[in-house]
This record gives sequence, C-alpha cells and structure tokens, in this order.
Amino acid sequence: MKILFYNIKELFQVRENNTSILKGSEMKELPSIKNAFLVVENDLIADYGSMENAPTDFDESVDVSDKMIMPSYIDSHTHIVYACNREQEFVDRINGLSYDEIYKRGGGILNSVEKLRKTSENELYKDAANRLEELIALGTGVIEIKSGYGLSLEAELKMLRVIKKLQENYPVKIKATFLGAHAVPPEFKDNQTAFVDEICNVMIPEIAKSGLADYVDAFLETGYFTVDETRKIIKAATNNGLKSKIHLNQFTAINGIEMCVEENVLTVDHLEIVTDEDIEALKKGKTIPVALPTCSYFISIPYTPARKLLDANLPLVIASDYNPGTTPSGNMNFVVATSCIKIKLTPEEAFNAATLNAAYALEVQNEYGSITKGKKASFFITKPLHSIYAIPYNFGSNLIETVYLHGIKQ
Ligand SMILES: [Zn+2]
Repeated sequence: MKILFYNIKELFQVRENNTSILKGSEMKELPSIKNAFLVVENDLIADYGSMENAPTDFDESVDVSDKMIMPSYIDSHTHIVYACNREQEFVDRINGLSYDEIYKRGGGILNSVEKLRKTSENELYKDAANRLEELIALGTGVIEIKSGYGLSLEAELKMLRVIKKLQENYPVKIKATFLGAHAVPPEFKDNQTAFVDEICNVMIPEIAKSGLADYVDAFLETGYFTVDETRKIIKAATNNGLKSKIHLNQFTAINGIEMCVEENVLTVDHLEIVTDEDIEALKKGKTIPVALPTCSYFISIPYTPARKLLDANLPLVIASDYNPGTTPSGNMNFVVATSCIKIKLTPEEAFNAATLNAAYALEVQNEYGSITKGKKASFFITKPLHSIYAIPYNFGSNLIETVYLHGIKQ
C-alpha cells in the first residue's frame, strides 16, 4: 500500500540522515520543506520532497492543502498506569499544603500505591488504555511508561504486564520502565536499606528475567532515595542488562547528576534545580537531560533552566511526566507551549526536544523522531495553520486534525 500525501503546506523535521542528538545551538534549526509531498509505503516513510517532484504512481492520496505534517511526539517520561486520580490533593495544594506535607500525611505517591495494589489488572488496563487513546489523538506516537505505584514485586509486575498489553494492542511504540524506588512502601517504612536491597537483589533480577522492562528508574531526592542508594540500584540494573533513567534534582541538587554520568545513565529527568557543578558533570558524559515543564506548571515549582543547559552546548529533551499527582496531563502540545512560554525555548527548539532528541532518550532514533526515508510513518497532520508557531501560541487549542501511526490513519 502506497499513500501519497500532497500539497503539504510545510513538512517538518525532515532529516536526510541524522547521526547524533542535537546539542545547544543545533536545536535552533527545524528543517522543513514547503509545498511538499510525502510517500508512505506500508508502515514506513518511503519518499518526500517538493511538490514539483511528486510521484504519479500510488494507491491512495491525501490532500494536505493548508496543513502541516510533523513527526509524532515522543513522550519519554510518563506514569500513565495508575489506579485513581488525586484531585483532592490538587485542592489541598490550592489551600496551601506543600507536596512534602501532602506526602507526610499519607498522600502523594503512597496514596497511589495503596489504591493500585487493590485495583485489578483489567481495570488498570482499561483506564491506561483510555489515557493512551487520548494521547494518540494529541499527537504522541512513542511513549515511555513507568511502573512505580506497586512497590512490591507482585504489584510492580502487575503494572508492567498492563504496559505490555498496551504495547500489544496499540500501534504506539512503548518502552517500559521499572520504577521500584519511587517511594518506600509502608511495609519497609522503618527499613529503607532493606527495601533498596529487595529492589536490587529480588525485584530487578526477576523483572529483568521477565523481559517486561526496558529501563530502571529511581527517585533520587532528599527524603526519598540517596545518591548511594540510587547508585546501588543503577549498578544492579546494569548487572542485569538494563539501562537506567533517573528522576532527580526536582527539589534539591545533591550531586546525583555527577553519579548518574559516572554510571552511564541514559537520561536524567526533572532538573528543576541545576547547579554549575551539575552542568560540568553533564558535559563530561552522554547522559541526556530531560525537562518536565508541565510538572513545574502544575505544582508551581521552578522550571528547568533550559537556556543554561543549551548555552553549555548540552542536548535537551522535553516530556510530559503524565502522572496523577504532579502532572495529570500528557498533552505534548501543551508541553511544547509551556517550554516556549516558561523556559524560553523557541518553537523550533521545543519541537526538536519533543521529537528527534526525545527519540534518543528512548533509543528509538533509528525508527522515529524525524521524517527520514526508512523510518516509521508515525506523524500528525495539523488543522489549517498560518505557521507551526500556532501550536505553542494557541496553547489551549488542539490543532491536530489527523494522526497516522505506522502508516495507518488512527
Ligand atoms: Zn516522573
């Protein structure tokens, strides 16, 4: 099946070949072709170019006049499998309680844990599938989903099986991450060391064996998991053939980034607080910084100093952090908008951070993230627009008209 998309007002993120993540000033450029065509053959991008060179043999054609095409968003950080919303905490925060006070009252992550353990696999799947369908319509074509609300081997495996079922039933590329060290569960309340040992010696080996996780994550933060505990978890993951992606520097900078770079962690996510030492550490390695600006928006904490990272010639990825407590939205259009409005990325930088660079954060850069021959035909077609700047500019509107994933209209 060969489909010709013709009269595309502008085809974005066109990369003949791309061999590395975009860093610093490289992120300013978002290559495009105006008045373009795109050919999709089965599930792959087969050809593209200016309309004057459009082919004449095809099975189907789609008129894209006045509209634009962008490769699917890649959301490299979400927690969309969860049991219950936390709307009450949202109101508590409006009334003045801090994230920490809510956590100490038994809210926060532990609230989600209690509810998840009681919820059946089927019910979890149904809710997560609804969320995923919403995200597909909003332009996401590749997504990472974390466990981390189970905090026991059994409940974590339940979450990972839900993620696996989503992988089987949807044309979205999904990567699964085991986040055992998200919080200390009640049964280990007074013995965090024993819980870290349980994660390293029991959970990680079992989960690696199950093949249900691609990555391991931990919440490295004052009051959660220390640098040394996190290093232990990363090493256990490495010994079991799994790479790590780590939550850190959300509230405090405690030299976690330096350790993560030393341990060759794939990504460090959050980074609302970044010191000069953290930047120096990032410059020494390949660990990718990931900003989660809509989390900052929702819980009113500082935003990742993105310009500081780019000025240091580092790469940057943006993701949603969709989760019930601190970011109950996975709308990547809003993540792009928030990045432009609050962390001063240009739209070009924001789209690069949400597509091509994000592909590197999930190691899917050979298949997704740009309009490149041979990559998967996963992209969205906008409504008629003056320019692509409308997506962050009209931040409250959904300007996506049609979504194609693996060459199939959704
Ligand atoms: Zn997160």
